[in-house]
Amino acid sequence: MTEGRPMPHPTAISEPHWQGAREHRLMVQRCGECGAYVFPPRAACTHCFSSALRWEQSSGLGDIYSYTIIHRAPHPSFEAPYCAAIIRLAEGWHMTSNVIGTPMDEIEVGMPVEVIFVDFDEVTLPMFRVRRSAGERTG
Ligand code: ZN
Repeated sequence: MTEGRPMPHPTAISEPHWQGAREHRLMVQRCGECGAYVFPPRAACTHCFSSALRWEQSSGLGDIYSYTIIHRAPHPSFEAPYCAAIIRLAEGWHMTSNVIGTPMDEIEVGMPVEVIFVDFDEVTLPMFRVRRSAGERTG
């Protein structure tokens, strides 16, 4: 059930990230001055305050940096239990997302994951699924 589910509201700054998601590409800002990746999207680099940010496509590959299992959904449109995780992308930046497609009791820190895109009516959400072995695509 997704009816009434709270969804992100793209802003002028974050729109390229969400447009990329609609095209099933994981987009992240990178600083043209210091090279740092910046996420969530910002008007200026969080490392050097430069406004010379540009958009790059991430590999979408990473691992589970940390996670928690939500047993009591914050909204009736969420099906508990579900996994909220901090994903460490291969490029070294982090994003908060969901790990789906794996039993909750099998999820571990350090598991390799890859992005998948879940299309809703108004927005596409990047989520992650476990890669069973390096280089092998699941599903
Ligand atoms: Zn910078």
